[in-house]
Amino acid sequence: MHQKIPLPVKNILTVLGQASYEAYIVGGCVRDLLLSRTPKDWDVTTNATPEQIVALFPESFYENDFGTVGVKVPRFLTPTDPQHENDIIEVTTYRTESAYDDKRRPSQVAFTLSLTADLARRDFTINAMALGTETQSGEQAIATEEDGTAWFLIDPYQGQTDLQKKIIRTVGNPEERLNEDALRLMRAVRLLSELRDGNEKDAAKNWCIEEKSLAAIKKLSPHLAAISQERLRDEFSKIILSNSPAFGVELLQMLGLLHFIIPELETGIGVTQNLHHIYTVWEHNLRALTTCPSHTLSVRLAALLHDVGKPQTKKGEGYRATFYNHDHVGARMTEKILTRLRFPKPVIHKATLLVDNHLFYYNVGEVTEASVRRLVKRVGLENMSDLMAVRIGDRLGSGVPKGKTYKLRHLEYMIEKVSQDPLSVKMLAVSGTDLIHTLALAPSPKIGALLDVLLSEVIEDPKQNTKETLLKRAAELEKSDLATLRTLAKEKIAEKRTAEDEHTKKRHWVE
Ligand code: ATP
Ligand code: MG
Repeated sequence: MHQKIPLPVKNILTVLGQASYEAYIVGGCVRDLLLSRTPKDWDVTTNATPEQIVALFPESFYENDFGTVGVKVPRFLTPTDPQHENDIIEVTTYRTESAYDDKRRPSQVAFTLSLTADLARRDFTINAMALGTETQSGEQAIATEEDGTAWFLIDPYQGQTDLQKKIIRTVGNPEERLNEDALRLMRAVRLLSELRDGNEKDAAKNWCIEEKSLAAIKKLSPHLAAISQERLRDEFSKIILSNSPAFGVELLQMLGLLHFIIPELETGIGVTQNLHHIYTVWEHNLRALTTCPSHTLSVRLAALLHDVGKPQTKKGEGYRATFYNHDHVGARMTEKILTRLRFPKPVIHKATLLVDNHLFYYNVGEVTEASVRRLVKRVGLENMSDLMAVRIGDRLGSGVPKGKTYKLRHLEYMIEKVSQDPLSVKMLAVSGTDLIHTLALAPSPKIGALLDVLLSEVIEDPKQNTKETLLKRAAELEKSDLATLRTLAKEKIAEKRTAEDEHTKKRHWVE
């Protein structure tokens, strides 16, 4: 087990030990080591004060008011990422927390000389264990290295027993501990989603949250309102990327927590669909998340949110209910939700784009190469495989046995085929500069509009993409004013889209 402790981490323990301080690896990394999982980050706890830690490690910096020092070590957490030369290990002075008055963070942090007191402030028993080369109260070694170094597990709150029993339990009284910091309500669900085995059908053999802790989460759920959007986002993202994302989102809902994160999803509960949908909108969104084959956050978020616009757009009941425009309404909602949760712009943009376009129509033989080019132009070649992943989730999540039908495989083939064709202004045989020189035009927005019209025509017929043809056509078009050109470019695309939208509409209650 100790062999998995990376050298940079061991070195920190050694340096602190040689200076006669206590030092232990602590928290999530100990939990993960004992579970044979790879820790995401490593934390060290010590009785040395921040100033004493900084004095021992020249490449370190005092991070915050909580006694945490970041020690720079050679890269080992991200070995394949050449952009990072170093990783940071957090070394924190033993501390206790008291007087939580805003359900968010302790209003007082005090350093302590006791490791047991430090472990007592941690959230769950499985996160409250420490591992080091010295005992605290005569513990047995749990592993010994070849050179004779023995490793001891300091576990005053029976974390190891709970690991074996697969139980997430608060350290001490659940209501008190969850009342101190409401983020713990979500951390419990996040940990469960990460640790749970999605393939284990027997609930008794799987991970669970201990009953009293679970009841306390439900009771205290309104406290989540006090937590910042950024902290909610971080835990929510970990749930979405976990082994059991849909289980996690469903549990958040059952415990009354989702209401404070994405209440918009809850409006789909009990909303029935139509002829070809056996699941309600809520169930279908969750199933699409489960079956979406992508491991990228933005794509998984899009799968979860792809039908979030349905409750609002539902017309009629039963068999023939329709949800026209739910893709675009859903895209606007997705943008709003992810912006509120302070996701980074690229994540928001990508998820919104995928939701907006998830209904693309495709049928072998019926859809032309030009319409595939239009789809690729709208979505971007680089996003096509992600759009496909959302669609596969959508299909499988409807209870359709095959995610990647012949239709989708054929579309992939078509995308590859048209990907050499001009799909963006950059791929045209003429540039803005060419137009300026040849037609003796002054640089103006008109150039961009001219290029847009040329592109819309080339998308219909790639053979027109030669310098000669395009310059000739530009000379004709140039006589029109800016507004006319803009309308023309839009119309060319829109005209074709109307026909496709008709298909989409039909599909939308049929498929
Ligand atoms: P991950 O695998 O995502 O790193 P983790 O449990 O290690 O999960 P961290 O945020 O790295 O989570 O925190 C490290 C440790 O600090 C936890 O294992 C726990 O002991 C303690 N901790 C973190 N957040 C809290 C909290 N809100 N309340 C109490 N203890 C916490
Ligand atoms: Mg951690």
